[in-house]
Amino acid sequence: MSEASEISPPVSYESAYADGFRHNWTKREILEYFNMPFMDLLFEAQTVHRTHFDPNRVQLSQLCSIKTGGCPEDCKYCPQSARYQTEVDASKLMAVQEVIEKAKKAKEAGATRYCMGAAWRSPKGRDMDAVVAMIEGVKDLGMETCVTLGMLNEEQVGRLKQAGLDYYNHNVDSSPEYYKEIITTRSYEDRLETLERVRGAGINVCSGGIVGMGESLEDRAGMLQTLANLPQHPGSVPINMLVQVEGTPLFGEGKMDPFDFVRTIAVARILMPASYVRLSAGREEMNDEMQALCFMAGANSIFYGEKLLTTPNPIQNRDMELFERLGITPEGK
Ligand code: SF4
Repeated sequence: MSEASEISPPVSYESAYADGFRHNWTKREILEYFNMPFMDLLFEAQTVHRTHFDPNRVQLSQLCSIKTGGCPEDCKYCPQSARYQTEVDASKLMAVQEVIEKAKKAKEAGATRYCMGAAWRSPKGRDMDAVVAMIEGVKDLGMETCVTLGMLNEEQVGRLKQAGLDYYNHNVDSSPEYYKEIITTRSYEDRLETLERVRGAGINVCSGGIVGMGESLEDRAGMLQTLANLPQHPGSVPINMLVQVEGTPLFGEGKMDPFDFVRTIAVARILMPASYVRLSAGREEMNDEMQALCFMAGANSIFYGEKLLTTPNPIQNRDMELFERLGITPEGK
């Protein structure tokens, strides 16, 4: 980032947001943010963050894998793909009551949102009945619900809406260009279409991506450009740091500079000022100082609990200790 100081600062905060949120970001503008001196970028991101959120509050979400492994897709980072030899065993869809019991425990542990993920290309008809019952059951506990089930058709979106689903997660994963290097079994356009259907039905969109997959800085900018230029910013933007799992094609990929991860969080915050930017997969490999920098950069949501689908996540007590040291209060407390 040695050229950072030679690049003129991007369009000012006031002029960029005076008329509401922008949805016309150029790659060049976004790259200029990425290339700002680190401290300037953090200051800018924190300034934006404080305009829309209490900087000392973080949302806790818990993620439950309701159907693990055996997925027909070929996402190169994913241990749940049936195409790769990993230690993840395929399981059947979890029973509705079991999911609701787990959600109850998550609520007792402080989670306000319960996310349910299934390793499917898209759900089958019979799966939908169970998922709808899970959503209704979790909502009855007074929690927000989010599901991630793969691609959806209009009818499936309609059923989820009727069940009262709050959020649908479908990540764009990377830039349109780099996406093709990572997934070949469904296109970027397929993803955008599902997001469009979900948004059209009035369900909040949760969409983000993964960094540390060998992508370039331009690709990181391209991913955030896609998200920020959607007709509405996703309500939640999970930013994942690749967790390298043995057996997946991306195992052994060079590690990304932690400061570049913090930069990605900061730029996401600046481009999508009122969205929850969620520190997602990869937290297990981040020390407390790096997580604190991510909160400083505008991350205000974390996945909470021991497992993040199939990879480890910092244990709840460690999260609470860190929050206490930083004076952060979980949302809803
Ligand atoms: S990321 Fe999702 S769609 Fe891709 S292989 Fe894993 S479970 Fe399947």
